[in-house]
Amino acid sequence: MFDLIVLGGGPGGYLAAERAGAAGLSTLLIEKNKIGGVCLNEGCIPSKTLLNSAKIYDHACNGQKYGVTAENAHIDQPAVVARKNKVVRNLVAGIKHSLKTSNVTIKEGFGKILGRENGVIRIMVGEEVFEGQRLILATGSETVIPPIPGVREGLADGTVLTNREILDLQEIPATMVIVGGGVIGLEMAGYFQTCGCQVTVIEMLDHIAGAADRELSILLQKAFEKKGIKFFLKCQVTGIGPGYVEFKDQNETKRAEAAYTLLSVGRRAVTQGFGLETLGVQTERGHIVTDAQGQTNIPGVYAVGDVNGVWMLAHAAYREAEVAVNSILGKKDLMRYQAMPSVLYTNPEMAFVGETEETCKEKGIEYRKVTLPMTYSGRYMAENEGGDGIIKLLIDPVRNRLLGCHLLGSYASEIIMSAGIMIETEMRVDDIKELIFPHPTVSEIIREAIFHA
Ligand SMILES: Cc1cc2nc3c(=O)[nH]c(=O)nc-3n(C[C@H](O)[C@H](O)[C@H](O)COP(=O)(O)OP(=O)(O)OC[C@H]3O[C@@H](n4cnc5c(N)ncnc54)[C@H](O)[C@@H]3O)c2cc1C
Repeated sequence: MFDLIVLGGGPGGYLAAERAGAAGLSTLLIEKNKIGGVCLNEGCIPSKTLLNSAKIYDHACNGQKYGVTAENAHIDQPAVVARKNKVVRNLVAGIKHSLKTSNVTIKEGFGKILGRENGVIRIMVGEEVFEGQRLILATGSETVIPPIPGVREGLADGTVLTNREILDLQEIPATMVIVGGGVIGLEMAGYFQTCGCQVTVIEMLDHIAGAADRELSILLQKAFEKKGIKFFLKCQVTGIGPGYVEFKDQNETKRAEAAYTLLSVGRRAVTQGFGLETLGVQTERGHIVTDAQGQTNIPGVYAVGDVNGVWMLAHAAYREAEVAVNSILGKKDLMRYQAMPSVLYTNPEMAFVGETEETCKEKGIEYRKVTLPMTYSGRYMAENEGGDGIIKLLIDPVRNRLLGCHLLGSYASEIIMSAGIMIETEMRVDDIKELIFPHPTVSEIIREAIFHA
């Protein structure tokens, strides 16, 4: 009998298990595939490892404007993938070690919930049945496979890829079509175009980059178009065949060449096939419904990470895991989402936190905006010849507090957290003006923008 069973060993599950084990709860973690989940094995970390290789290659190819010439630079894709695998192996080993030192019992295999009797939850793995007082569901999400003619055949012969296979592709193809211009699609578009592939992105919406502020998503699209990536917006893919993708652009049927096609139209929570219904857990539009403590409608049953459908981000899963475990331990804690940072690890990077102009308008929030080119930062100028990044701040004119921060440019991923803190702690603009930023850093752009507010 365990105090806690955690189902799924991705960021939500492994961190919940680690925290619970470290706090003295007897904890069982069940994982059917690989500890680390999507994030470590086929998501965040592998994609960022590849993108770093592309960045180095890009520097080598375009160093002339900085007075550096490199000859014969080329991408060795099998070596890039091999390094990615090494990074993943090391990180997964580190997590397993942390779980061990936190006294977590790991059970490899598919966990099937059998139900709850007299308050005890029973889960079967293979032939064994485990019992627990409480359960954290962290079964994550899976790639949506759109019902497009040709997809099934393409997946079978390996020319249609999901995020899983693309990260192990051993070659840089001449052409690639990416179906879906969200975060995953754009990061992979950037990688393959930089490495010499002709990439076409086909997106159903009239903009790329999902929930990003529209002004910045347009700028990112322009930066990508300059690199040679082709975009078709408001277009629907109607078929995939050998070497091509067919799509409807208004009333016209068009074709784009595609040695490979990446499907990146979205991800869906994993809520079926493992006995969730035996507990009577409430789901809504395909994901598990939770309260501010991460608890489902069933007392003692929690859901963290992608499976609750709130934010499909690893850092959201981490924090939700901590909140759920704290709640189990009887500590006061609750999930707040107003300062959730989002990052696109594209080149240029995009990062944002808080409200966008679009969400302000939707919610009827009054705002004042400040937009500045990144060239106000000396470090940005030193490192980005001809760079056209920007910062946009949205400010509450009544309370004089930051509502949103949107960055396009180098180090955006590392800087965004400082704006997140300002929003989370509800700092006043006058307080932000008193903060000291290290010089010269690109982060100073926040200080510059706030003085223009
Ligand atoms: C290409 C890509 C890039 C990404 N990049 C980023 C990024 O840069 N930053 C970011 O924040 N997020 C990123 N994400 C999203 C991030 O990976 C997810 O938000 C995160 O992995 C969610 O963690 P999780 O624990 O909820 O679920 P998952 O990581 O999906 O883990 C769930 C685990 O549960 C296991 N499981 C499911 N059912 C069972 C069962 N019945 N029995 C046993 N085990 C089971 C699965 O095998 C899996 O290992 C990316 C995703 C992709 C696909």
